[in-house]
Amino acid sequence: MTDFDVVVVGAGVTGLTVANRLHAAGKSVLVLEARDRVGGRLLTEDIEGVRLEVGGQWVSPDQTALLALIDELGLEMYSRYRAGESVYIGADGVRRTFEGEQFPVPATTEAEMERLTKELDRLAAAMDPLAPWEHPDADELDRISFATWLAAQTDDAEARDNIGLYIGPAMLTKPAHSFSALSAVLMAASAGGFSNLVDADFILDRRVVGGLQRVPLALAARLPEGTVHLSEAVTTIEWDADGGTVFTGRGSYSGRRILMAVPPTLVNRVQYIPALPPVQAQMRQHISFGLVVKLHITYDTPFWRTNGLSGTAFSPYALVHEAYDNTNEDIDGETRGTLVGFVSDVKADGILALSPEARKQAVLESLAAYYGPEALNPVGYYESPWMADEWTVGAFGTSFDIGSLTRYGSHLRQEVGPLSFASSDIAGLGFQHVDGAIRMGEAIFRRYA
Ligand code: FAD
Repeated sequence: MTDFDVVVVGAGVTGLTVANRLHAAGKSVLVLEARDRVGGRLLTEDIEGVRLEVGGQWVSPDQTALLALIDELGLEMYSRYRAGESVYIGADGVRRTFEGEQFPVPATTEAEMERLTKELDRLAAAMDPLAPWEHPDADELDRISFATWLAAQTDDAEARDNIGLYIGPAMLTKPAHSFSALSAVLMAASAGGFSNLVDADFILDRRVVGGLQRVPLALAARLPEGTVHLSEAVTTIEWDADGGTVFTGRGSYSGRRILMAVPPTLVNRVQYIPALPPVQAQMRQHISFGLVVKLHITYDTPFWRTNGLSGTAFSPYALVHEAYDNTNEDIDGETRGTLVGFVSDVKADGILALSPEARKQAVLESLAAYYGPEALNPVGYYESPWMADEWTVGAFGTSFDIGSLTRYGSHLRQEVGPLSFASSDIAGLGFQHVDGAIRMGEAIFRRYA
């Protein structure tokens, strides 16, 4: 058995950030990863001849920790394709094209959306995303669902559906009636304001050449050989005030500190001897993953561009609530066009109950409503499988149920003896994003150094 300064459980961006900083500071560190690869929710794969970003992929200007790391690692970026008109399908079922970020809705709905955006910006500005429970209206906002809050704000259903879309299906990937208004404000505050979430050109700004998984791959490559053990899931941790011993199917490793760099939902999957304090075990039963199916659909050509479309499409009423041009601009000679689309929360439940063929057909018909009948004939179709992957079990990230952010939030980042907890799911700025994973990793390093 070897003694390490720190044993890190999980080789996602959070765990690898900590390991890199500790190694550079001369500390001994071991990283144990359940999967046979590093990167966690970041995965770039060649699927039937098309390179796809199965997990996270976009980088936005507010993600300064991620931008700094991309720079430090010497990686390059390119802009998401966005020339041309976007498509919106409204409550009346009519397809309309538009430019800019304001959906082509009736003037009264537009005014309501602007008013709600300002109100959410105001609430977010009063929040420290690291401590949402300290918000002046925290108790009130955490007791009601985001859907209830929206209903109290406006009678305009289309305004409610669109504002709900940005945080429900598009971010927390849960129905707006299942998370609190406080969680919605946290999502906005963590991205620098609700206005940023509304602006697809901001929030989905750039991509990394070669795919975002190059970040964790480069972090792992900087560690000495043997630092990262793959295919070694941690099952049990014995701990006391002086340190802990981590058990996997292959061996045991002791460290003065143990970092659980895994989503909160997977913290409870490990057995702790002695057990974690009651509040820790209780708290994580009130956190759950959202559900979204990320879809990649490849065509012989990016036909929508020829039709004057950017590929950007939205509708709270469509099966695929948002879609974008996701063609690999960084591959020389790429002539095919790829769309990325998302089916979220209860709509995801619905399509996952269908046969694969019926699911594909439903998705293609939803795309055809945005882009026309050419969308019905792809050369490639792929559904990211995060919801069936035991080391994630959902997408994009986790969030609290109603009332639990104020009840338990202050315990989220608390240490227990030698045990610490970190992941993008418990970040402040960059919550649920790679930026938050890096921020959590840096914060743990500062605590350990
Ligand atoms: P993870 O990546 O989940 O890493 C945790 C690691 O711990 C995993 O490798 C897991 O295998 C391992 N592990 C778990 N339990 C154990 C155990 N018992 N023993 C050993 N190892 C264990 N973010 C963005 O910034 N931009 C985007 O465009 C974006 N899009 C996304 C799209 C999808 C489909 C998904 C799923 C996520 C997306 N995200 C995006 C979110 C982003 O990918 C995550 O926030 C981030 O990668 C999380 O990093 P992490 O290290 O905190 O956690």
